[in-house]
Amino acid sequence: MNILEIRNLSIFYKEKEILKNVNLDIKENEIICIMGSSGSGKSTLLSCLNGFLVENGGNYTGDVFLKGKNIRDIKPIDLKRKMSTLFQDSKPFDFSIEKNLTYAMEFYEGKIKNKKERVKNLLESVNLYDEVKDNLNISPYKLSGGQRQRLCIARMLTTCPEVLIFDEPCSSLDEKNSIIIEELIKNLSKKYTIIISTHNEKQAERLADRIIRIDNKQLN
Ligand code: ADP
Ligand code: MG
Repeated sequence: MNILEIRNLSIFYKEKEILKNVNLDIKENEIICIMGSSGSGKSTLLSCLNGFLVENGGNYTGDVFLKGKNIRDIKPIDLKRKMSTLFQDSKPFDFSIEKNLTYAMEFYEGKIKNKKERVKNLLESVNLYDEVKDNLNISPYKLSGGQRQRLCIARMLTTCPEVLIFDEPCSSLDEKNSIIIEELIKNLSKKYTIIISTHNEKQAERLADRIIRIDNKQLN
């Protein structure tokens, strides 16, 4: 089943056209890698899908359907929750490790039941629990870069998403930590649909079910 259908989509910042009349179907549990040179429009395409485009000063024509529903008809707050995004500059909140994971749950759900267990499950799903289980109340800024990135990925899962969007998730990581994140993304695709932008060709080949290239405003 297609979870996302992009139809006749053109994206603009003021008069500047970034994508021109593109179409794309994405199946449930697929890993799609978006590639393209710097400035080709990778982040812009992702921001259209998760609803941040307009906030960033852009606009679009055409339609995007999430599970058959036009995203124009989904409340922005729900769209952002469903299309959970790791931005290129995402950082942990300056709260404790635990609060990084409970913040969105409390926002969306109110008082959390089984808090300890849910935090544990989230940390386990990014293979971080054993490394931090005795330090849940410390600042994430005491963790390594790779651990922080895994915490940010765990935080993405706290909004009950349907699609996970990763914008160049390994651009600030070394090879070893990049591979850890890739393994994690592969694992998450059992449960979620994944869209990831990268300009690392080898990473795309390792990860992708399908590679989509942005070239001259088109998707190939
Ligand atoms: P990529 O992620 O592939 O490097 P971007 O999507 O960030 O590319 O940018 C695509 C084009 O849109 C670039 O020419 C960039 O300068 C422009 N752009 C990106 N964000 C904005 C913005 N908020 N306002 C105006 N132009 C933008
Ligand atoms: Mg970008």
